Amino acid sequence: MILPGLDVPLGAIWCVGRNYAAHARELGNEVPSEPVVFLKPAGAALLSGGTLRPPADSARVDHEVELVAARAADGSLRMAVGIDFTARDVQDRLKAKGLPWTLAKARRGFAAFGPFVPARLPAELSLSVNGAVRQRGTTADMLWPVERLIAYLDETFGLGSGDVVFTGTPPGVGPVAPGDRLEASLGGGLSRLSLRVAER
Ligand code: ZN
Repeated sequence: MILPGLDVPLGAIWCVGRNYAAHARELGNEVPSEPVVFLKPAGAALLSGGTLRPPADSARVDHEVELVAARAADGSLRMAVGIDFTARDVQDRLKAKGLPWTLAKARRGFAAFGPFVPARLPAELSLSVNGAVRQRGTTADMLWPVERLIAYLDETFGLGSGDVVFTGTPPGVGPVAPGDRLEASLGGGLSRLSLRVAER
Protein backbone atom coordinates (compact mmCIF):
# COMPACT_ATOMS: atom_id res chain seq x y z
CA MET A 1 0.00 0.00 0.00
CA ILE A 2 1.26 3.49 -0.86
CA LEU A 3 -0.07 6.31 1.32
CA PRO A 4 -1.01 9.56 -0.49
CA GLY A 5 2.02 11.89 -0.69
CA LEU A 6 4.59 9.20 0.14
CA ASP A 7 6.60 7.73 -2.73
CA VAL A 8 7.54 4.49 -0.94
CA PRO A 9 5.27 1.58 0.12
CA LEU A 10 4.04 1.68 3.72
CA GLY A 11 6.40 -0.05 6.13
CA ALA A 12 5.88 -0.24 9.89
CA ILE A 13 3.46 2.04 11.73
CA TRP A 14 5.29 3.27 14.85
CA CYS A 15 3.41 5.15 17.55
CA VAL A 16 4.64 7.20 20.45
CA GLY A 17 2.48 7.77 23.52
CA ARG A 18 2.59 10.55 26.11
CA ASN A 19 4.60 12.98 23.99
CA TYR A 20 2.62 15.99 25.21
CA ALA A 21 2.78 16.56 28.98
CA ALA A 22 -0.78 17.97 29.08
CA HIS A 23 -2.23 14.80 27.50
CA ALA A 24 -0.23 12.46 29.76
CA ARG A 25 -1.71 14.32 32.73
CA GLU A 26 -5.31 14.25 31.43
CA LEU A 27 -5.17 10.42 31.45
CA GLY A 28 -3.52 10.41 34.89
CA ASN A 29 -0.20 9.13 33.54
CA GLU A 30 3.27 10.19 34.59
CA VAL A 31 5.29 12.19 32.08
CA PRO A 32 7.75 9.49 30.98
CA SER A 33 11.53 9.82 30.96
CA GLU A 34 11.82 8.01 27.62
CA PRO A 35 9.31 7.66 24.75
CA VAL A 36 6.45 5.14 25.14
CA VAL A 37 6.56 3.16 21.87
CA PHE A 38 4.04 0.75 20.32
CA LEU A 39 3.20 -0.53 16.82
CA LYS A 40 0.17 -0.98 14.59
CA PRO A 41 -0.05 -3.41 11.63
CA ALA A 42 -0.44 -2.12 8.06
CA GLY A 43 -4.00 -3.48 8.16
CA ALA A 44 -4.88 -0.70 10.62
CA ALA A 45 -4.41 1.97 7.92
CA LEU A 46 -7.48 4.02 6.99
CA LEU A 47 -7.39 6.81 4.40
CA SER A 48 -9.22 10.13 4.33
CA GLY A 49 -12.78 9.67 3.11
CA GLY A 50 -13.03 6.28 4.81
CA THR A 51 -15.32 4.94 7.51
CA LEU A 52 -14.23 3.81 10.96
CA ARG A 53 -16.05 0.72 12.21
CA PRO A 54 -15.59 0.56 15.99
CA PRO A 55 -14.95 -2.98 17.25
CA ALA A 56 -17.85 -4.73 18.99
CA ASP A 57 -15.83 -5.42 22.15
CA SER A 58 -15.32 -1.72 22.94
CA ALA A 59 -17.82 0.84 24.22
CA ARG A 60 -15.37 3.71 24.01
CA VAL A 61 -13.15 4.46 21.01
CA ASP A 62 -11.21 7.73 21.47
CA HIS A 63 -9.76 10.01 18.80
CA GLU A 64 -6.13 11.12 19.17
CA VAL A 65 -5.09 13.62 16.49
CA GLU A 66 -1.37 13.42 15.75
CA LEU A 67 1.37 14.53 13.41
CA VAL A 68 2.60 11.50 11.44
CA ALA A 69 6.20 11.76 10.23
CA ALA A 70 7.88 9.79 7.44
CA ARG A 71 10.87 10.00 5.13
CA ALA A 72 10.39 10.22 1.38
CA ALA A 73 12.64 8.23 -0.99
CA ASP A 74 15.04 11.20 -1.19
CA GLY A 75 15.36 11.25 2.62
CA SER A 76 13.36 14.46 3.09
CA LEU A 77 10.94 14.67 6.02
CA ARG A 78 7.21 14.55 5.27
CA MET A 79 4.29 15.01 7.60
CA ALA A 80 0.61 14.11 7.54
CA VAL A 81 -2.27 14.57 9.92
CA GLY A 82 -3.31 11.27 11.47
CA ILE A 83 -5.70 9.86 14.04
CA ASP A 84 -4.49 7.20 16.45
CA PHE A 85 -7.81 5.58 17.41
CA THR A 86 -7.78 3.90 20.80
CA ALA A 87 -10.30 1.55 22.42
CA ARG A 88 -9.89 3.27 25.79
CA ASP A 89 -11.94 0.82 27.84
CA VAL A 90 -9.95 -2.09 26.40
CA GLN A 91 -6.68 -0.21 27.02
CA ASP A 92 -7.66 0.45 30.65
CA ARG A 93 -8.32 -3.27 31.18
CA LEU A 94 -4.99 -4.20 29.56
CA LYS A 95 -3.07 -1.58 31.55
CA ALA A 96 -4.56 -2.86 34.82
CA LYS A 97 -3.25 -6.34 33.99
CA GLY A 98 0.12 -5.08 32.73
CA LEU A 99 -0.60 -6.49 29.26
CA PRO A 100 0.46 -5.09 25.85
CA TRP A 101 -1.82 -2.48 24.20
CA THR A 102 -2.23 -4.32 20.87
CA LEU A 103 -5.93 -5.14 21.30
CA ALA A 104 -6.68 -1.50 22.18
CA LYS A 105 -4.53 0.20 19.55
CA ALA A 106 -3.88 -2.03 16.53
CA ARG A 107 -7.42 -2.69 15.32
CA ARG A 108 -8.66 -2.41 11.73
CA GLY A 109 -8.99 1.28 10.75
CA PHE A 110 -7.27 2.53 13.91
CA ALA A 111 -4.45 4.34 12.03
CA ALA A 112 -6.01 7.10 9.90
CA PHE A 113 -3.93 9.17 7.49
CA GLY A 114 -4.34 12.43 5.62
CA PRO A 115 -1.97 13.09 2.69
CA PHE A 116 1.76 13.49 3.36
CA VAL A 117 3.30 16.89 2.52
CA PRO A 118 6.81 18.34 2.97
CA ALA A 119 7.31 18.96 6.71
CA ARG A 120 6.96 22.52 8.02
CA LEU A 121 7.53 22.56 11.76
CA PRO A 122 6.27 23.51 14.23
CA ALA A 123 2.72 22.90 13.00
CA GLU A 124 -0.74 23.40 14.48
CA LEU A 125 -2.96 20.34 14.96
CA SER A 126 -6.73 20.31 15.32
CA LEU A 127 -9.60 17.86 15.31
CA SER A 128 -13.31 18.55 15.21
CA VAL A 129 -16.28 16.23 15.62
CA ASN A 130 -19.50 17.21 13.83
CA GLY A 131 -18.06 20.71 13.39
CA ALA A 132 -17.12 21.30 17.06
CA VAL A 133 -13.41 21.59 17.87
CA ARG A 134 -12.33 18.90 20.35
CA GLN A 135 -8.53 18.98 20.10
CA ARG A 136 -6.22 21.85 19.28
CA GLY A 137 -2.48 21.98 19.87
CA THR A 138 0.92 22.66 18.43
CA THR A 139 3.82 20.32 17.79
CA ALA A 140 5.97 22.93 19.57
CA ASP A 141 4.66 21.37 22.82
CA MET A 142 6.10 17.90 22.12
CA LEU A 143 8.36 16.50 24.85
CA TRP A 144 10.43 14.76 22.12
CA PRO A 145 10.51 16.80 18.91
CA VAL A 146 9.98 14.94 15.63
CA GLU A 147 13.63 14.74 14.57
CA ARG A 148 14.68 13.51 18.03
CA LEU A 149 11.95 10.86 18.03
CA ILE A 150 12.99 9.60 14.61
CA ALA A 151 16.63 9.47 15.69
CA TYR A 152 15.62 7.58 18.87
CA LEU A 153 13.50 5.03 16.95
CA ASP A 154 16.19 4.55 14.32
CA GLU A 155 18.91 4.02 16.91
CA THR A 156 16.79 1.74 19.11
CA PHE A 157 14.87 -0.33 16.54
CA GLY A 158 16.19 0.59 13.08
CA LEU A 159 13.68 2.46 10.93
CA GLY A 160 13.01 1.03 7.47
CA SER A 161 11.85 2.47 4.16
CA GLY A 162 8.21 3.55 4.30
CA ASP A 163 8.04 3.49 8.10
CA VAL A 164 5.70 6.14 9.51
CA VAL A 165 5.65 7.54 13.04
CA PHE A 166 2.60 8.75 14.98
CA THR A 167 4.14 11.31 17.33
CA GLY A 168 1.63 11.60 20.18
CA THR A 169 -1.50 13.62 20.83
CA PRO A 170 -2.20 16.98 22.45
CA PRO A 171 -4.94 17.15 25.14
CA GLY A 172 -8.65 16.93 24.40
CA VAL A 173 -8.98 13.25 23.46
CA GLY A 174 -12.51 11.93 23.71
CA PRO A 175 -14.90 9.27 22.45
CA VAL A 176 -16.46 9.02 19.00
CA ALA A 177 -20.08 8.01 18.50
CA PRO A 178 -21.90 6.19 15.67
CA GLY A 179 -22.52 8.53 12.74
CA ASP A 180 -19.94 11.15 13.84
CA ARG A 181 -18.04 13.11 11.22
CA LEU A 182 -14.39 13.78 12.08
CA GLU A 183 -12.23 16.45 10.47
CA ALA A 184 -8.54 16.76 11.33
CA SER A 185 -6.02 19.31 10.12
CA LEU A 186 -2.27 19.88 10.35
CA GLY A 187 -0.31 23.04 9.58
CA GLY A 188 -3.37 25.18 8.93
CA GLY A 189 -4.77 22.75 6.36
CA LEU A 190 -1.54 21.57 4.67
CA SER A 191 -2.78 18.02 5.42
CA ARG A 192 -6.46 17.31 6.06
CA LEU A 193 -8.35 14.18 6.99
CA SER A 194 -12.07 13.54 7.06
CA LEU A 195 -13.72 10.35 8.26
CA ARG A 196 -17.11 9.04 9.22
CA VAL A 197 -17.87 6.71 12.13
CA ALA A 198 -20.18 3.89 11.04
CA GLU A 199 -23.64 3.50 12.54
CA ARG A 200 -23.69 0.45 14.80
ZN1 ZN B 1 -1.57 8.37 20.30
